[in-house]
Amino acid sequence: MSEVRVRIAPSPTGYLHVGTARTALFNWLFARKNGGKFLLRIEDTDRERSKPEFEQDIIEGLKWLGLDWDEPIVYQSQRLDLYRKEAQRLLEMGKAYPCFCTPEELEERRQAMLAKGAAPKYDRKCRRLTQAERERLIREGRPYVLRFAMPLEGEVSFHDIVRGEIRFANRELDDFVIVKSDGFPTYNFACVVDDHDMGITHVIRGEDHISNTPRQLHLYIALGYEPPQFAHLPLLLGPDRSKLSKRHGAVSLNEYRRMGILPEAMVNFLALLGWYPRDQKEIKTREQLIAEFELSEVKPSGAIFDLEKLLWMNGHYIRQKPVEELARMLVPYFAERGWISNPPTEDEWRYLLEVTPLVQERMRTLSEAVELAEFFYREPEHYDEKARSRLSKDGVAELLSELSNRLEALAEFSAEQVEVTVRQLAAERGLKAAEVIHPTRAAVTGRMEGPSLFHLMAVLGKERCVGRLRRAVQILNSGLLTAAEK
Ligand code: GLU
Repeated sequence: MSEVRVRIAPSPTGYLHVGTARTALFNWLFARKNGGKFLLRIEDTDRERSKPEFEQDIIEGLKWLGLDWDEPIVYQSQRLDLYRKEAQRLLEMGKAYPCFCTPEELEERRQAMLAKGAAPKYDRKCRRLTQAERERLIREGRPYVLRFAMPLEGEVSFHDIVRGEIRFANRELDDFVIVKSDGFPTYNFACVVDDHDMGITHVIRGEDHISNTPRQLHLYIALGYEPPQFAHLPLLLGPDRSKLSKRHGAVSLNEYRRMGILPEAMVNFLALLGWYPRDQKEIKTREQLIAEFELSEVKPSGAIFDLEKLLWMNGHYIRQKPVEELARMLVPYFAERGWISNPPTEDEWRYLLEVTPLVQERMRTLSEAVELAEFFYREPEHYDEKARSRLSKDGVAELLSELSNRLEALAEFSAEQVEVTVRQLAAERGLKAAEVIHPTRAAVTGRMEGPSLFHLMAVLGKERCVGRLRRAVQILNSGLLTAAEK
């Protein structure tokens, strides 16, 4: 087999969709596995809908995932001469023809066909024009498109690597447009000319393109090109098994990036959308994915995009991160809250290095760290319901007041010393340790879930802890807590 060459060919008419990212990844894995080339082609022939900001987003998204391409980016908008030349060849061979029907005429006939209950298709009116008529209309300056002259009989078939044998009857296919009236090629035409010119050996793309493949195969045949192999990847579905859409949540890759999904988690997650490792182990490094990925093992049935699974996986990758690296990733999130500056001062950085391991265990995304770490940076503005109920138990005000005095007197405010103090107080009062620990946690953090209390208190430091305990005592004594509860 000659060298594998694959491509991802996004249209810059929207932000990078997770479905496109998945397709890019499968192409990339296939190329890397087979020692081939992975190429990027920007399909920017829709002049109205293509936008530089979308192109930027797509390129950045692919880079963020680490899907590097091996040759300079190909821009379709810079290859119009090539399409013109190939369209001319088709015209000369009588395999394409100019069509002068106006959009209004086409719409009228479409409606008429629909009314008769027929599937609307171009009725091939202009295919029947004589050469003289065509020349006259062109001379008159009438705008026209070029259409492909589809064989009227027979069929076209191909072997799809994922889906097996696929056949289409030619009479179901229409004389589709290959060049628009503005001289720009349509997707189907430019795609074939480029895939041939770029030496693409395997076209791996979404299942939504299956119906384009017979049209493209006819172009390959007409132009005398050797067709590549095709693999159509299963559609991405939401948890309700309908096509993945905004309704299900974020669909642009960047939203996941902003949320604080790590690229390695995203790559791992996307790789399992349609392909399932033989050993059923879901956590895979990039190198393992490359080594194990098999295009022929991709399952044709829809692949469910399960956000919970992505969050679980991301949590796994977050827990694997060295503290310093993770802390660096948290800087923009905490800086946005105004908790630290970006870059952080030396003191802020030292504190962040202590806070990070305490939130690392529980966070599933970088942005979740904001909520988990809030009490390290802000005195709790209110106590949540569970915390209030802990605080409103009898005797808590006096207990916390005593604890705050003992903590204040500590020479060394370490997790061990805090623990000894708490346990001693509990023992003296004939209480279980939990009966002191719970209200203390409520007073210091405002909530009942979180990292180990003694550790988080040591990180917060004596001054903050004592201050928070005393503030809780004040609130309890003033009756404000019970007032808030009513
Ligand atoms: N521009 C097309 C898309 O984004 C490319 C499809 C293909 O890979 O042929 O869907």
